[in-house]
Amino acid sequence: MIAEILCIGTELLMGQTLNTNAQFIARRLSALGVSQYHQCVVGDNEERLEAALRQAIARADVVITSGGLGPTLDDITKRVTAKAAGKELVQRPEAEAMVRERFRQLGREMTENNLAQAMFTPDSTVLLNEYGTAPGAIVPVGGGKTVIHLPGPPWELEPMFLTQVEPWLTARSGRVLVSRYIRIFGMGEAEVDHRLRDLMQGSNPTLSPYCSLGEVVLRATASADTEAQASDMLLPLLVETRLRLGKVVYAVEEDDGGSLAKSAVAALAARGFTCATCESLTGGLIAATLVEVPGASAVVRAGFITYQTDTKTLLAGVPAEEIEKHDVVSAQVAMAMARGARERIGVDIAVSATGLAGPDGGTQEKPVGTVYVGVSGAKGTYAIPLRLSGDRMRIRQLTVKHALNALRLEAMK
Ligand code: AMP
Ligand code: MG
Repeated sequence: MIAEILCIGTELLMGQTLNTNAQFIARRLSALGVSQYHQCVVGDNEERLEAALRQAIARADVVITSGGLGPTLDDITKRVTAKAAGKELVQRPEAEAMVRERFRQLGREMTENNLAQAMFTPDSTVLLNEYGTAPGAIVPVGGGKTVIHLPGPPWELEPMFLTQVEPWLTARSGRVLVSRYIRIFGMGEAEVDHRLRDLMQGSNPTLSPYCSLGEVVLRATASADTEAQASDMLLPLLVETRLRLGKVVYAVEEDDGGSLAKSAVAALAARGFTCATCESLTGGLIAATLVEVPGASAVVRAGFITYQTDTKTLLAGVPAEEIEKHDVVSAQVAMAMARGARERIGVDIAVSATGLAGPDGGTQEKPVGTVYVGVSGAKGTYAIPLRLSGDRMRIRQLTVKHALNALRLEAMK
């Protein structure tokens, strides 16, 4: 398969905008094993665009355009492509629904000219734009050739390409793509980037990061003629990544479904360990997250929810003097909660959490987000002091992740 990138926009010709879309698409295409022999940039001019399109369609199987899908007069990409293909643009109800929904989500009034963004040729496949108002499209233009329209803004184009165009291309390129997801907790994106920068510059396999709450996920993807070949190509990259990052890598999975809870349950099960929780600010969320994992019943024995201060004494046997002396949000109390749960429930490892989720209750010395996670195991008891930021929900969710990670690491000691 031969592909050609055609970027549309006078700002690109004038040097006002750096053509990062061409670089992004070209790198992905080479990773996919798709050949490219030409690349083109053309301004927002009908005649020149039509000529460039005709030329690209003549020499490539797939032409990928970027830009000019918006509602304004200089957005001519779709109209000129339809003309070159000898087809008409029609209003597409599913595209109109997408545009209206996007405006509703943005809370913006939609003027009538925006409906131009829902016009495509009748046999086009409309592509969802999750970050902007203009849908993209896969447009058959006759003779077995295809033009793929993508929006100009890189933050719209890149996810659309990865989630909707790549699967379409792989299905036709005769190549197989294999991906692995490397999940990281306890190291920020900047540090991960610093340690792996050279590996992230490869084109096949590729290694690219994205973030989710408190975590970094790396997607490693290889393309080859067979699945076995692609898997083999990934192996050295996965080994090297693990080596450089160490224990912060908590899972390497074939899909995006890994979680700290899953890894914690697996680590406990591998050792035949049981666990318990004693939770204050998380109110049972650590235990609830653990038991979402199928098979958790083999390792999770029980949990205490000790929300008000005296219940920490009542349920987990935390000495009232300890609380009085050190404050309920302290390393000592977190440790006593974990130790208490471990002894009373009779498990190998217990984790606890005490802290300030806010919005009220913070002080100069202990601001909202001050959290202590306690861990008690056969090898001793300790507390992890945390300063988390964000709203109440985020602080509680991050606390859960820190507790699950501590549980996982303790089980692997
Ligand atoms: P358009 O979809 O043509 O309205 O483009 C919207 C914006 O996307 C432009 O103003 C540029 O800032 C940006 N943009 C368009 N084409 C590219 C490109 N090839 N590379 C990077 N940014 C682009
Ligand atoms: Mg433009």
